[in-house]
Amino acid sequence: KKRNPNEDEFLQAVSEIFHSLVPVFEKKTIYMEHNILERIVEPDRAISFRVPWVDDDGVIQVNRGYRIQFNNTIGPYKGGIRFHPSVNISIVKFLGFEQIFKNSLTGLPIGGGKGGADFNPKGKSDVEIMRFCQSFMSELFKHIGPNKDVPAGDIGVGSREVGYLFGQYKKMRGQYEAVVLTGKGLNYGGSLARKEATGFGAVYFVKEMLKDQQDNFENKTVVVSGSGNVATYAMEKAKELGAKVIACSDSDGYIYDKNGINIDTVKQIKQVKEKRIKEYVNKHQDAEFISDSSAIWNIACDIAMPCATQNELNEDAAKTLVENGVQAVGEGANMPCTADAIEVFMKNDISFAPGKAANAGGVAVSALEMSQNSMRLSWDFKEVDEQLQKIMANIYKRCVNAATEYGHTGNLVMGANIAGFQKVADAMVEQGVV
Ligand code: NDP
Repeated sequence: KKRNPNEDEFLQAVSEIFHSLVPVFEKKTIYMEHNILERIVEPDRAISFRVPWVDDDGVIQVNRGYRIQFNNTIGPYKGGIRFHPSVNISIVKFLGFEQIFKNSLTGLPIGGGKGGADFNPKGKSDVEIMRFCQSFMSELFKHIGPNKDVPAGDIGVGSREVGYLFGQYKKMRGQYEAVVLTGKGLNYGGSLARKEATGFGAVYFVKEMLKDQQDNFENKTVVVSGSGNVATYAMEKAKELGAKVIACSDSDGYIYDKNGINIDTVKQIKQVKEKRIKEYVNKHQDAEFISDSSAIWNIACDIAMPCATQNELNEDAAKTLVENGVQAVGEGANMPCTADAIEVFMKNDISFAPGKAANAGGVAVSALEMSQNSMRLSWDFKEVDEQLQKIMANIYKRCVNAATEYGHTGNLVMGANIAGFQKVADAMVEQGVV
């Protein structure tokens, strides 16, 4: 805490991992001998930089950009870029730290990193977004590369932003290096099924969890928070598997549709710039809009999938979900449930899928995008989706096995943390003190 003042989110993420690792350190003293804990919480480097840009009124604006290159023991740094006013060093470090273990869990050769800027894309014109992305990349390009660090999108960074970032990278480098960014457009090296991958993957993970209880998504009621990339495709897949998604949200509030959310309408709303989810009720008269996003967890449901942002589901919300009979919770976002909320789920034997494992589908398909770029070919949707399903089933198995091995059967939080950690820690031991 002394060393990382005012970094609450980062300390929260570290504390969760450390708690899970207690039984590992008791059993494997080699990690202590190599001082792995102290080494793994210190990023390889934390880059912070000025991002100046000129708005449409000719006024010079300045934002702060970040790239945290956390750990490249098992592969080049990999992790998204977030544009949101709340971005600060704590948020980027927590996300980068989580990314190390998530990427390890995928079984693919990718290290952990994350980046972003405290830039608010809301209300900005296309040209302003482009100018911002160009300025951001004018500095970032010095630090990234196909074998070094490969960013992708995250909150506020979708295919439009990745396009502008890639264009500027290409210009600065004077070379065409497709592998340097993932989440690219399909016209220039993007992978089919990448935009669906995180949401689909989260549902595939929960599907595996339910399968272990001889259950499935059919006829289940599902509540999904958010209505961005992850939420939209989580809703789509849950529906495809026979569930009824009854609510979703944005930061203004949530919509409840007892007939089941019409996902096409959500997509249409989101396609139009600056349109808010409350517009949904204009098309679906039975639906209601409630202007309190956190109240979404008051809705009774079988499965809850927080897919919006960190710490959006607290202890009280968890208690309400439990009282209302929730059966499973799957985190689509990064750290959406507070530590207290997770404890409530655990105490009440609610199946809980931690984001680190459940939302790893996005980065896994990003790694598949890198493979396709390296081979200079592209796979069809079905092939990528099948690989994604296999990867998610494997991640689930890894979490289950690690939890069982260390005497915490069924605790997927511990399972994910332990399995993700061990591979990186073993490789750190093998590579010496660097
Ligand atoms: P998007 O920007 O596409 O969407 C985020 C959504 O969450 C928006 O609908 C936003 O609404 C909403 N939101 C933000 N804050 C709140 C809140 N307090 N309550 C309710 N809704 C809120 O981001 P993504 O879908 O890409 O990312 C969502 C989460 O998933 C993040 O935690 C991200 O780190 C994680 N993730 C994303 C991956 C990806 O591939 N995209 C991969 C792995 C994890 P509004 O428009 O009002 O801000």
